[in-house]
Amino acid sequence: MLTKNELQKLLGFKAQHPVVSVYLNTDPATGNADTYRLKLRTMLKDAQPPEDDSRAIQRYFQQEYDWGGRSVAVFSCAAEGFFRAYPIAVPLRSRLRISPDRPHVKPLLRLLDTYGHYGVALIDQQGARLFAFHLGELQAQEDVHGESVQRIKQGGSQAGGQRGGEGSAAISKEAVERNMKTAAKAAARFFKQHDVRRVLIGGTEENSAHFRNHLPKHWQSLVMGTFPISMAAAYSEVLEKALEIGEHAERQRQARLVENIITGALKGQNGALGLDDTLQALQEGRVQTLLIQEGLRTPGKRCPECNYLTTGDLEACPYCNHSFEAVPDVIEIASQRVLRAHGEVEFVIDQTLESHGGLGALLRY
Ligand SMILES: [Zn+2]
Repeated sequence: MLTKNELQKLLGFKAQHPVVSVYLNTDPATGNADTYRLKLRTMLKDAQPPEDDSRAIQRYFQQEYDWGGRSVAVFSCAAEGFFRAYPIAVPLRSRLRISPDRPHVKPLLRLLDTYGHYGVALIDQQGARLFAFHLGELQAQEDVHGESVQRIKQGGSQAGGQRGGEGSAAISKEAVERNMKTAAKAAARFFKQHDVRRVLIGGTEENSAHFRNHLPKHWQSLVMGTFPISMAAAYSEVLEKALEIGEHAERQRQARLVENIITGALKGQNGALGLDDTLQALQEGRVQTLLIQEGLRTPGKRCPECNYLTTGDLEACPYCNHSFEAVPDVIEIASQRVLRAHGEVEFVIDQTLESHGGLGALLRY
């Protein structure tokens, strides 16, 4: 499974030989094994990777892959005996990249960013159903059963005799309170256990709000949204709903991030906007969160001595006066550097950012 840990390992891999990265969309909804193998052969023919890598990649799709996923990420550096494959349950665009010394991980970052580490709690007055999803797959599920809650009679009828409505309503209320507490406690433990980074709550508006209030503050702050759903819903329905809300909330969060960066950049404080300023901040080790317009790819130059990246016309590095080498994509190198320094990389679709060259950063200071 592709985790943040696994990704850090990929980021840490540096080879003396070219690394071939293949992303193949294998969505059963839009094709079958034959059409996707053909697509792969065409990509390999066009890109002409080293023969050994080409063979290793084709062997994987012939013999190992079960075609159950909706896409696959494969990294091969046969010259150094390196091969990794990750089937993924969400569809990705097919592409092949040959990089001089590292795997091309940008699409995986984007993937983790949007579909990683979801926790969902379905809530009613009696208990909860807890789910952990990662990259479109169910990782774990747990049910929490509270004590039974007597039904509260609706309307003005005193059916059930003179002791009727009020007494049982009061009992129920206390039971509901206890059940909510139990459910919230169980959810916090479950979310922690499964490394959840964003939380969704399903149920009636009242139950969702009640449950949320009982969650510890840390988990409250990670709630991305609530939604109505039946307690008996199939997990596939829960997942679909979670991804839908997750994507929406993610877009909103990113819009706020872009705003913060623009404000920071205008005030000359903790924001950088545009290629030049952002690459400069990167060189100074100030980038906390790198923001990249989705699909941005910019050729440029790198100083082999101090790693300074630029897209400008400079002849020599302003830091060490060394002459530059050409690189196919400064954005890819920049994002890897930020991640290795334990910063964040976000991929956004935002007009303002695009009008500033598609690159910006929130700075550490
Ligand atoms: Zn330099």
